[in-house]
Amino acid sequence: MTEHTLTVAGVAVDTRHWIGGRRVASAETFTDVSPIDGSVIGEISRGTALEAAAAVAAAKAAFPAWAATSRAERARILHAVADGVEKRIEELSIVETTDNGALLRSHRRGVMPRVAHNFRFFADWLLKLEHEDFETRGHTNHVSWDPAGPSVLITPWNAPLMLATWKVAPALAAGNTVVLKPAEWSPLTASLLADIAAEAGLPAGVFNVVQGYGSEIGDALTSHPDVRRISFTGSVPTARRIAESAAGNLTPLSLELGGKSPLLVFADADLDVAVDLAVEQYDNAGQVCLAATRFLVEESVAEEFTRRFVEKAATLTQGDPRHETTDIGPNIHPRQLEKIDAFVQRALAAGARAVVGGHRKDIQYYAPTLLTDVAQDSEIVQEEVFGPVLTLQTFSTEEEAVRLANDTRFGLAATLATADAERAERVTAQLVAGTVWVNCFFVRDLQAPFGGSRHSGVGREGGTWSFDFYCDVKNTVTAPNGWKNHG
Ligand code: NAD
Repeated sequence: MTEHTLTVAGVAVDTRHWIGGRRVASAETFTDVSPIDGSVIGEISRGTALEAAAAVAAAKAAFPAWAATSRAERARILHAVADGVEKRIEELSIVETTDNGALLRSHRRGVMPRVAHNFRFFADWLLKLEHEDFETRGHTNHVSWDPAGPSVLITPWNAPLMLATWKVAPALAAGNTVVLKPAEWSPLTASLLADIAAEAGLPAGVFNVVQGYGSEIGDALTSHPDVRRISFTGSVPTARRIAESAAGNLTPLSLELGGKSPLLVFADADLDVAVDLAVEQYDNAGQVCLAATRFLVEESVAEEFTRRFVEKAATLTQGDPRHETTDIGPNIHPRQLEKIDAFVQRALAAGARAVVGGHRKDIQYYAPTLLTDVAQDSEIVQEEVFGPVLTLQTFSTEEEAVRLANDTRFGLAATLATADAERAERVTAQLVAGTVWVNCFFVRDLQAPFGGSRHSGVGREGGTWSFDFYCDVKNTVTAPNGWKNHG
């Protein structure tokens, strides 16, 4: 324990950066606050361009040896990281809940096991990563994935460790070295991951963590000429700034951004399934990029759907995310709550009707909300709120449903409730979305491509797509024995 150690719900967390295999403090700090009750958790090292440069230098120095490490050895170490995560599921869960306010039971049962799985999956995928050789006039084409270099990974607060490791694991598996910049509202589990990675035997400098405000440290990371890849999850305005900053070096970018995804409920759907899917959209207090926040319901069943939704929403318990019976926790920050409420109040002033909620509960908690009587071109239908705020509109034909579904600048996901398989196929083919779920939601396999269309993102990660992004993909053409080029 040092003066730089915090005890968070009984767990020791180092508040300093992790650079080149050692802890580094900044001159300045920022205050980390718990969304559960607004209490101060502690002071965290606040990175500047200096620490950004040091972290990239450490990642650059460690790169040649890590890139030359055999696939089998890289995979072995990633499995050891997964072991370390599994051993500390309880600690990671309570620290994450304290830091970002998401449900403790979800962290224990779903999120942290999935963090470990991120490492295991990409370790195993690395071992079977190959493209069958092919021939061109007797010449052999061989495809290989070469490590690209230091990678900067920038992540948001809504699912901190899960989203971070979804990038860290494939980047390390690919043979790249990493500088992770967690969100300033939830930096703690990234620090714990540094401890776990070191214990697992990841060499110094292969994995680095720098903390701080994106506005202060971001440019120094994303404009650095030694950085070979940038993967970012967050908001559209930040993505624009990162793209501008990366443009000088033409650093390849992967951008996973916001959404305004639809849930289409057709009259032939099993309404119980549809209502279950709809209520699920309040998960994580609505702070889910993939959330289907726009309900589009066929007119003939809209009344019945709404009645059942209201009934079901009334059974949800909102409160302390550490309690086993809580369904909806707090929002991340009073500032976020203000933003959410401003969206709702502007929508109500414009003529929307709150069928459920429509107001804040206190400074940290927003009442789950469903708004009807909203116009397609209104702000509440077009802009991402990132809180427990949903809208409901009706349609009378399949064409209208598709038109409304596609009529935003986003294209992250879409969810369909229908009993008609042909309709599902027809509608899916017309939707602009990186992921479509039919009669289900949030089923995610790590080998599937993941990403968004339009302003929801650039590129795809997942399975081989992750290696395509983090690597320099090379094709080697070899002439047959004794072959002479006669022009
Ligand atoms: P944000 O864009 O404000 O911040 C995300 C990260 O970017 C933080 O670490 C922040 O410090 C950093 N950052 C800020 N300015 C920067 C700069 N100039 N240069 C470099 N980094 C900078 O987003 P947020 O509020 O933390 O997250 C919410 C957003 O993330 C929502 O729009 C949500 O939809 C999106 N999101 C998308 C996905 C996805 O997979 N598509 C997943 C989760 C969240």
